[in-house]
Amino acid sequence: MSEHWRIAVDREACLGSGVCAATAPGHFRLDDGRSRPVEDDVEADDIVLDVADMCPAEAITVHDAAGNRLAPDSDIGPRTA
Ligand code: SF4
Repeated sequence: MSEHWRIAVDREACLGSGVCAATAPGHFRLDDGRSRPVEDDVEADDIVLDVADMCPAEAITVHDAAGNRLAPDSDIGPRTA
């Protein structure tokens, strides 16, 4: 069984840079100049972790089904993409 993650975008914090939508267009899209997830509940996919770490505003958060934050990954340090 595949793992599911929850994606959230803080639209107040989002700068509208479009990095997320350009990097993972299947998961993020710009709406009114700010990002939102295409779907909140996704199958586990490392690209969303990379995008959350890349976001200049740290507006994207990814949690696993148990509610643990997977990204941005502030405990371990920057992820190398
Ligand atoms: S990368 Fe971050 S700041 Fe840029 S559009 Fe996406 S959520 Fe907004």
